[in-house]
Amino acid sequence: MADSGTRTYKAAKRYIYAWGGGKAEGNGNMKDLLGGKGAGLAEMTNAGLPTPPGFTITTEACNDYFAAGKTLPAGLWDDVLAAVRVVERETGKGFGDPKNPLLVSVRSGAKFSMPGMMDTVLNLGLNEATLQGLIASTGNERFGWDAYRRFIAMFGRIVLDVPTRSTKAKDGTLVQHNRFDEALDAAKEKHGKDAKDTDLNVDDLKKLVVAYKKIVKTTIGRDFPDDPNEQLDLAIKAVFASWFGKRANDYRNTQKIAHDLGTAVNVVTMVFGNMGDDSGTGVAFTRDPNTGEKALYGEYLTNAQGEDVVAGVRTAPKIAQLATDMPRVYAEFKKIADKLEKHYKDVQDLEFTIERGRLYMLQTRSAKRTAAAAVKIAVDMVHEKLITVDEALARIEPAQVDQLLRPTFDPAAIRTATRMARGLNASPGAAVGRAVFHADVAAAWAAKKEKVILIREETSPDDFHGMAVAQGILTAKGGATSHAAVVARQIGKPCVAGCSELEISYSSKTVTAGGVTVKEGGWVSLDGTTGEVFVGALPTVEAKYEDQKDLQTLLAMADKVRRLQIWTNADKPEEAAQARAWGAQGIGLCRTEHMFREGPRLEIVRAAILVANVATRAKAKTAARQALTAEEKKAVKTFDAKMAKLEEMQQGDFEGILAAMTGLPVVIRLIDPPLHEFLPNLEDQLVKVTKAGAKATPKDKELLATIKSMHEQNPMLGLRGCRLGLMIPDFVKIQTRAILNAAVAVKKAGKDPRPEIMIPLVGHVNELIATQTLLEAEAAAVVAKGGVKIDYKFGTMIEIPRACWVADDIAKHAQFFSFGTNDLTQMTFGYSRDDAEGGFLLKYVEDKILPYNPFQSLDPVIVQEMDMAVKLGRKTRPDLKVGICGEHGGDPMSIGFCHDIGLNYVSCSPFRVPVARLAAAQAALKGAAERDK
Ligand code: ADP
Ligand code: MG
Ligand code: MG
Repeated sequence: MADSGTRTYKAAKRYIYAWGGGKAEGNGNMKDLLGGKGAGLAEMTNAGLPTPPGFTITTEACNDYFAAGKTLPAGLWDDVLAAVRVVERETGKGFGDPKNPLLVSVRSGAKFSMPGMMDTVLNLGLNEATLQGLIASTGNERFGWDAYRRFIAMFGRIVLDVPTRSTKAKDGTLVQHNRFDEALDAAKEKHGKDAKDTDLNVDDLKKLVVAYKKIVKTTIGRDFPDDPNEQLDLAIKAVFASWFGKRANDYRNTQKIAHDLGTAVNVVTMVFGNMGDDSGTGVAFTRDPNTGEKALYGEYLTNAQGEDVVAGVRTAPKIAQLATDMPRVYAEFKKIADKLEKHYKDVQDLEFTIERGRLYMLQTRSAKRTAAAAVKIAVDMVHEKLITVDEALARIEPAQVDQLLRPTFDPAAIRTATRMARGLNASPGAAVGRAVFHADVAAAWAAKKEKVILIREETSPDDFHGMAVAQGILTAKGGATSHAAVVARQIGKPCVAGCSELEISYSSKTVTAGGVTVKEGGWVSLDGTTGEVFVGALPTVEAKYEDQKDLQTLLAMADKVRRLQIWTNADKPEEAAQARAWGAQGIGLCRTEHMFREGPRLEIVRAAILVANVATRAKAKTAARQALTAEEKKAVKTFDAKMAKLEEMQQGDFEGILAAMTGLPVVIRLIDPPLHEFLPNLEDQLVKVTKAGAKATPKDKELLATIKSMHEQNPMLGLRGCRLGLMIPDFVKIQTRAILNAAVAVKKAGKDPRPEIMIPLVGHVNELIATQTLLEAEAAAVVAKGGVKIDYKFGTMIEIPRACWVADDIAKHAQFFSFGTNDLTQMTFGYSRDDAEGGFLLKYVEDKILPYNPFQSLDPVIVQEMDMAVKLGRKTRPDLKVGICGEHGGDPMSIGFCHDIGLNYVSCSPFRVPVARLAAAQAALKGAAERDK
């Protein structure tokens, strides 16, 4: 623009950046200062695209405004007026000029897009005098009055805070009415029940203006401001104030956006989409934000202004229809959309207005998209050579991969289900919950752990807190770009929108469609992928990784980039096979005790435990050549019989797993939990025996005595892990034999078993030495007898802080380490995991005593301990293989730490394997980026 760079500023800082005439003072990299919208308008202008001239007041101005106790920084207002003069020159119009008035929109715009933080004020600068100028210069009286009534309503509601009118429904609930909308509806009704806003004539609009002004006067006791400068001043301050409004605060809290960023204010020359049938307004995405398909996707309305499309005042045609309605404009728009997508190398979400056949771009930003679309778009853009593999990988959130593997409805159940209605498939996924009709109710029920579906006529930013906690969202009105749809896609909730068959009654708290009525609390199921709504709670089925080609391509890209291997925690052959299909490269944790609990086994285990102590003592006596009592002999006999049975069963389990994982390592952990976990709970057994009184069986009394004798104050710090194996060696001996016999059998069947035996809970190296000596003898004997060569290893878990300190000693004996970070966290913090997580820990996080739950993501101090243990261990054994098998192994942030400290693998539950593959690639990319710095 003409005087760019030569303008002088009255304020101490430069608070204003203008654009127009093909040039902008800011650019797309200035999002911090100009907000996303301002930066986008500057960038589009610089790229030669048609934007209406305007200027941005910076986020810094907003922050300084609040710092000064809600007063504009000295000099800012003068600079605003100077910027208005620039826009006047650019447009040839005058702000407040009754002959040829300049009208502007005042728009908020923070660094991160915050849908609906503050609504935009359009047509600012109108009063009775400038209105006449607008009418004269356009020769369109109806248009002038339509703009004026819109302005008064918007400014009244948004800037002047005209209160809503509340009435009481029959059931006592309060219903809010927008007073301006009520007046508008009344005016429309005169033209028939289904009249549209476009049916209003000049006379109606004039009357509406009078009615609107009266609403302002009676509700807030002042006249509607006529002076354009005063209008502008009030609007700028209202945008600033909206930064700390409830909607904005709620949104920032859920999205973890900092509260001190501030918002910019954009003052933009009005262009008019409501000047007749050669005018219009619309929203479009450069690719389909649901599926990622490469085609323009969006909606527009002719003879409409502003948010009419989003608000759903009329049914909007698809953007493709524009090609027929206004072919030249469509062609231009398509070209611009392509250009912007190439320029930003990402899908853009565009807002535009057509004024008498001339296209103006009003906004561009990276589009929110579903997880499926995100993956498809990233993969496609790599193939289109628009972005690199590294960029594609960085663009997908691990959580999105997770979402793609979430359940869908069982097709068999859908066939017999009662379908209530079908709406727009606005955000994919299956959601099941109980019907609620108010965001506050959703929040209250969700706090009580109820699953809810939020059902509304349409949603607004005021409903965000309810949407965030709902399983899914269902609306009767609004299209693919409505508030409900946009927000649901962004927060990853299934949503069916625009389901016009629904008859929702807020007062009786019911929804009726397809002849069925569901009351508040009734179960509904909605499918955001198909748009269907069902009565009742439908069963869901797992998502199929096998069917998701784009995801597979993306993860194959990740596999090439990552250094960490991804293993899985699996106890059963089916789980192992599943995880292997999803990319697992080994089993990092196979818990043997789970197998103890299945079916008839528990009874066998219990019977063995009852005599375990006596039998163990007796065996020691035999070894010392002492005679046994009859009772001891009997105990040994029972014990050995039970153990033999267990050994046989476990061997079967291990054969299944080793076969499923042929060629890949399988780390099998020896029994870990305290034995009392296999017995009934002390209280229950006490009640049972007491109730039975004299009739109590000897078996029950014996069981009670055993449970009592095994009772510990702190079982998590008690007789468990390797301690148990050292006290009652038979448990671990039979497990070792079972593992190796299984390996022998699998090998003989032509497969390649690779068992690794893991000894848990070692704190002192002597614990490891004693256990390993005992077990190596068993293993060697089995293998010798088997007559085939088996590659097996002994290693240990590192899960006691002391073990980290002596990891060099431990590595002299252990052939591998695996971090058990659940116990390591528990013992380093001194928190009992089972109690803390349900108790004070969450409160700690809420009160910010802890930044996050250390059982979810590794605490930096735990990482330091691990780092030390890795270094010490590898000092002794340079090729020591180290992994992690705690819950943290599937947590993206923790995976980053594991990469940084040089682990060989992370092991996580099967369904986290795909997520971990991506997270590991991102960790490698981040590491590389830091090295390059
Ligand atoms: P949001 O942040 O909610 O998207 P915007 O500031 O983008 O709000 O404004 C919403 C809509 O208002 C735009 O999409 C556009 O249709 C309309 N609008 C905003 N400024 C102008 C303008 N200067 N001329 C015409 N329409 C405008
Ligand atoms: Mg909006
Ligand atoms: Mg917008």
